[in-house]
Amino acid sequence: MTTQYMLQLQNISYSYHTLHGETKALDRLSFGVKEGEFVAVVGPSGCGKSTLLSIVAGLLSPEDGTIKVNNPDGSLHYPRVGYMLQHDHLFEWRTVHKNVILGLEINHMLTEERLNYVEQLLYDYGLEQFRDKRPGELSGGMKQRAALIRTLALDPQLLLLDEPFSALDYQTRLSVSADICKLIRRTGKTMLLITHDLSEAISLADRVIVLSKRPATVKCEIPIHLTLTDDSPLAARNAPEFKNYFNQLWEEIKNEEF
Ligand code: ADP
Ligand code: MG
Repeated sequence: MTTQYMLQLQNISYSYHTLHGETKALDRLSFGVKEGEFVAVVGPSGCGKSTLLSIVAGLLSPEDGTIKVNNPDGSLHYPRVGYMLQHDHLFEWRTVHKNVILGLEINHMLTEERLNYVEQLLYDYGLEQFRDKRPGELSGGMKQRAALIRTLALDPQLLLLDEPFSALDYQTRLSVSADICKLIRRTGKTMLLITHDLSEAISLADRVIVLSKRPATVKCEIPIHLTLTDDSPLAARNAPEFKNYFNQLWEEIKNEEF
């Protein structure tokens, strides 16, 4: 039986054209994402990872190749996409609450139902006492949570995360990344996470896709199965299989100038 992918990228190519010439960013790149799956994409800096997400988000059109949609209910509509970036992009002149409803405001979706959902998320993510604070009064992890609520408020079916933790210091990053991913997993959403941190990819994802250096193409895909003893942020990194996955990924990328 062939795997049924919710989204399937087939031979996607993309080049940027500037006054200084052409930069080929993606070269016949193909992979699929299953409904509810958490896929991490790793690749060297500048290889084309953000370009890839922009194409999946529909912000850029591929110059070649196709994206096939296959919803479980048989419908052909493109999934609603939510995008979370490296920097939280919260507005300091708005309160936390005003920030998290910004997407709803822009999209004219300030319905009672959506606002109630936002209240629930603020509560679930421990931010309800901070709703009237400014972003500057929050910790890095709380700001990422607020940015996530703003993204989830629009109820996306596919979440695209472009190195969302890389602006955090290492210690914060360990707990915030595990924490945020656990929260997203609870929603059952399909996720595509870009990272250049191999340990982060192994500890969080169901499958890791390794890209080559620019122009990016898929070097390999590694499904991840870890034996977890508890759900602490470090449990995945202490799993017996972790080291093997790390070595396997390292073998793939060591010649790719990470
Ligand atoms: P990554 O996210 O993996 O670091 P990007 O997808 O941002 O890489 O960029 C891939 C390549 O395309 C880089 O060499 C970058 O300089 C180039 N690039 C990205 N955006 C543009 C743009 N708007 N115009 C021209 N070149 C670009
Ligand atoms: Mg990038």
